[in-house]
Amino acid sequence: MANWSEKIRAYALKNAIEHEGKCQASAILNSLFHEGLEKEKIKEIMPLINEEVKLINKLSLEEQKNLFAGLEKETDKRSTRTGLRELENAKKGKVITRLAPEPSKYLHLGHALTYILNYSYAKKYKGKCKLRFEDCNPEKVSQEFIKENLDDIKNYLGIKPVSIRYVSDDMKKLYKYAEKLIKLGKAYMCFCPQEKLKELREKGIECSCREYDAKKNLSEWKKFLKNEYKKNEAVLRIKGNMQSTNYVMRDSVLFRHIEKEHFKHKKYKIWPMFDFYNPIEDHFMQVTHILRSNEFDVRVELQDYIKELLDLKKETILQYGRFNISGAVTQGREVRKLVESGEYIGWDDPRLATLKSLKRRGIVKEALYELAESIGLKKNQIEISFDMLASINRKLIDKKADRYSFIQTPIKLKIKNFPDIKEIEVKIHPEKQEKRKITIKDVYIASNDYEKNIGKEIRLMHLFNIKLKKNNEADFTSIENKDIDKINWVSEIVPIKIFMPDASWISGIGEIALKNLKPGSIIQFERFAFCRLDKINSAGECEFWFSHK
Ligand SMILES: [Zn+2]
Repeated sequence: MANWSEKIRAYALKNAIEHEGKCQASAILNSLFHEGLEKEKIKEIMPLINEEVKLINKLSLEEQKNLFAGLEKETDKRSTRTGLRELENAKKGKVITRLAPEPSKYLHLGHALTYILNYSYAKKYKGKCKLRFEDCNPEKVSQEFIKENLDDIKNYLGIKPVSIRYVSDDMKKLYKYAEKLIKLGKAYMCFCPQEKLKELREKGIECSCREYDAKKNLSEWKKFLKNEYKKNEAVLRIKGNMQSTNYVMRDSVLFRHIEKEHFKHKKYKIWPMFDFYNPIEDHFMQVTHILRSNEFDVRVELQDYIKELLDLKKETILQYGRFNISGAVTQGREVRKLVESGEYIGWDDPRLATLKSLKRRGIVKEALYELAESIGLKKNQIEISFDMLASINRKLIDKKADRYSFIQTPIKLKIKNFPDIKEIEVKIHPEKQEKRKITIKDVYIASNDYEKNIGKEIRLMHLFNIKLKKNNEADFTSIENKDIDKINWVSEIVPIKIFMPDASWISGIGEIALKNLKPGSIIQFERFAFCRLDKINSAGECEFWFSHK
């Protein structure tokens, strides 16, 4: 426990200094969690924290600051984080990982975590991380998705792949590998109608097409490549095991005819399936390690079988639990429906967990890296909620985000004996030196704050104390910073709109300095929430997106 007591003191002091001399046990406990304290230890550690809170809160702010100067190094150190654990078969400089998106959708949080793990491991071993677009379904893939996926990967996640490859560029080579399987007698042309093919697979019964010899299959394959068979008239299947308990092994389809033109390669109509091109492409790219979720579990047997038949080297595959993102639709098909029907505003709708949405809401990339690292390579299904991400994000942006006032349903106060103050200077953040000037004309406060405090003395934050009376009136009482409730106010105003997580808008007013922010800035509206300035619209309103509390 010895190592925790110093930290408790350090965080108690830090919290006290940030809150005008008074620290709170809950805040200290939170900081300790971030440092790696396990939940089971709460019982043991809580009495120590409570004792420290009493002690520290008796000191003057001055004394607290002096004490903290010697202990500051104890706070916010990352040393207790475990980081990425070692990979099997990993040699410095030799590790090659890959990201392999299918450009048929926008990327979401689950993709980001997988990509970050693969990228971070390549970096950890001073290896390479490559990017491959699996663009083999002309009906679904598009240039738009490639552009947007690249934007997410490079500009949001900050991943720099050493190379970018498109599976569709390798069609000739992939056809050659298919031919090899046919010659080995391990793949055959099947002419069964789609429904029958499906039914026989379900029943585990072989169709008569399986009887053709390699020579016949090869000539049919050639015809297939010349587009002599149309959609659903023929497919190439692997000769697996129709009685296997693993459905994937029951002679899966390897190639099929797709009529729709591919955006990049117009001449090809015969396109490979995932289980075929995926292991071959990993071989082309000399991938050494694949980190992926265990939702691919059932596919491993087939992919390994294909690798064996084609004599391809096996990579080290590390499977972790599937990320289950609670509270958001992540299935590409369902998302597309919501977007195309107009129910959602787009792929960046705040109710989605797409990277476009997270970025717009003000989730910084470092939060995604921290989340990926903390999840690491756990084997169980991993539940991820927006709240988890928000708590990491909050910790990262709290120190940087400048603070402003936002007033919802404002009322204008009539203050008696208004002191002669024309302008004040207020720090933009308690830990920064930079200040902003606020010209004092009228005083607006939120009707909520007003209703709650009628008859009471409150402090207009950073300004002075007043006693609130009926009919929107108030009396000036004093200037000194007293230990009374503080509320936000604004004087010179700009209209504010905030886009909430449920895609509703709320509006109000904010201080005029907000007009000078650059779109993309993440700020904190005091006593409200963190928000990201999306734009200043043509009506002159500042449009924010709500990040989190
Ligand atoms: Zn058949």
